[in-house]
Amino acid sequence: MRIDEAKCSGCGRCHEYCTMSCTGFVRLLGGKVVSQVDEDECVDCGVCERSKVCGLEAIYAPEAAWPRSVRGTFSNPLIEHKETKVPGRGTEEMKTNEVTGRFPPGFVGMSVELGRPGVGARLADAGIVGRALKRMGISLEPKNPLTTLLDPVTGDCLPEVAREKVLSAIIEFLLPAERTAEVLGAIRALAGQVDTVISVDLVYRNVPESNVLDTVFDMGESPYHNGKTNVGLGRPRVDGDKVGEVRS
Ligand code: SF4
Ligand code: SF4
Repeated sequence: MRIDEAKCSGCGRCHEYCTMSCTGFVRLLGGKVVSQVDEDECVDCGVCERSKVCGLEAIYAPEAAWPRSVRGTFSNPLIEHKETKVPGRGTEEMKTNEVTGRFPPGFVGMSVELGRPGVGARLADAGIVGRALKRMGISLEPKNPLTTLLDPVTGDCLPEVAREKVLSAIIEFLLPAERTAEVLGAIRALAGQVDTVISVDLVYRNVPESNVLDTVFDMGESPYHNGKTNVGLGRPRVDGDKVGEVRS
């Protein structure tokens, strides 16, 4: 995102709209004070422009070429990913399992989220997590747009996007439930290696024989029960000629 110095009056109203706090004042030669975007920190989320806070229309989005373009596709929910045709950062099935049935009994859907508003994440950090998961023989979810930016063999981030910064990045995969502690432990060990915050989501069937929650408590973690309620936005599961079947 950029600010047109010729139009900007330096009122500063746009600063509080910035999800990354990366706008600030500069004094131009001649003494005029304007606002400027730190483009290395800006994740191209588009909030400042969409908010229409600037009455002078000084905020604008220049055409973003590859690899800069990944910032917008991961941070601006209105931009579609060319690979998946799905806006956003992950797959919608993480929130609609009762409709899509992607995570069967005995398995855990795990998502590792790097960054959040105000912090962001360089994609190199996704490569650090991707590498650790690959070493454990874990396959990443092919429909997740981030998977296309990680080496399918090593899990490393593609070098050309490593420096790109996004609001947050989500790695998704499916695990047998009995590997929950092993993988959570490995992710926890990465906390000091990445330059951002990590949160982990677990999706699983809450059936009596499931011990996923016990496993998490036994590891000394305090999970937040952020249950998702489907309101009919998920796609019904299509299994051969059985349309809309819901696994129990
Ligand atoms: S709101 Fe517009 S005029 Fe005011 S500082 Fe931001 S870009 Fe400049
Ligand atoms: S696009 Fe987002 S991160 Fe960039 S300046 Fe605007 S609000 Fe801040």
